[in-house]
Amino acid sequence: MVGVDQVLEKLSTVIDPDLKKDIVSMGMIKDLELNSGNLKFTLELTTPACPFNVEIEDDVRKVIGELDGINNFDMKVTAKVMEGRSLDADTAMATVKNIIGVASGKGGVGKSTVSLNLALALSQTGAKVGLLDADVYGPSIPLMLGMDKVNMEVADNKLQPAESNGLKVVSFGFFAEQEHQAAIYRGPIISGILKQFLVDTNWSDLDYLIVDLPPGTGDIPLTLAQTIPITGILVVTTPQDVASNVAVKALGMFNKLNVPILGVVENMSSFVCPNCNENHYIFGQGGAKKISEKYNIPFVGEIPLNSGIMEGSDKGKPVMITAPQSPSAEAFRKTAKNIAAQCSILAARLQEEMKAEATPSTN
Ligand code: ADP
Repeated sequence: MVGVDQVLEKLSTVIDPDLKKDIVSMGMIKDLELNSGNLKFTLELTTPACPFNVEIEDDVRKVIGELDGINNFDMKVTAKVMEGRSLDADTAMATVKNIIGVASGKGGVGKSTVSLNLALALSQTGAKVGLLDADVYGPSIPLMLGMDKVNMEVADNKLQPAESNGLKVVSFGFFAEQEHQAAIYRGPIISGILKQFLVDTNWSDLDYLIVDLPPGTGDIPLTLAQTIPITGILVVTTPQDVASNVAVKALGMFNKLNVPILGVVENMSSFVCPNCNENHYIFGQGGAKKISEKYNIPFVGEIPLNSGIMEGSDKGKPVMITAPQSPSAEAFRKTAKNIAAQCSILAARLQEEMKAEATPSTN
């Protein structure tokens, strides 16, 4: 008769392709019950946005099918996002599992568009997602979400985020009385406001908080990197070499601050001609891939140049909401999954580091 040990041994042959670890040692098998050949357990994936959930689930079914003596098999599949931040009891924002800063070397590369659609793509997988528009010099998220005149509420001394399309949202734009007002603020004030948006806001439980940073390497990215532990930075670039080189400057700053780089995404990558259906690389090909290879950073995706993306952003109707089946939405979805996977990889590394610290040295 098959026993629990054999089941676990078999399950431990299934490897998570991202984490490169077996699913048993990663603690993904929960509530296992085996009674007279009736097997039941929960497979708990590291994120609902895992790019490999179907593959892992299929592998589990396959290996269980290879065991003799299983009459009935019942598997529940769930996901619990891993903590991608080194948190201890009194860390600020301890209920936010992952904080992802979205940076670019210069403006206009589509950083806000990418931040918003990635936040929506993650949220559509079932994850709890917040979006902090920290682009003080051009807060465009309210416009992109069609959020007019938002009055932020304060309860228990905490700012209450607004809600839109399932996202919790805070933007510098909600507070600027006139356009470009924020641009006149100076460094310390701006840093202070950002700290409040992070720490004095009731984000409650979030799996991912996306922070849309201003372009470049100014006070805001610096404050984010130094105020709280964050999971990492996503760098947005366009294929042009010029944009790529400025992106490298941003990378350099985060590297110096020891903030992990989650990956680089190439926006406005190529254009599919609606007439001939051919893919045109208008701005050249492979800028972000070159960066990823040269600096050993994951390449997490490419987003096409598409008028639907632009119109959606500019009219307050993001493509992830209005055209979720479009190739553009699919590109965001794929990128979001790769980013979630990178967060899980960093979280697993953090867990190991913490375990190593907790284990007394034998020397
Ligand atoms: P940034 O935040 O880097 O300044 P935005 O997200 O505000 O850039 O985008 C700048 C402009 O480019 C906006 O009009 C936006 O709609 C457009 N845009 C961004 N990404 C795309 C894309 N993939 N295809 C078409 N237009 C895009």
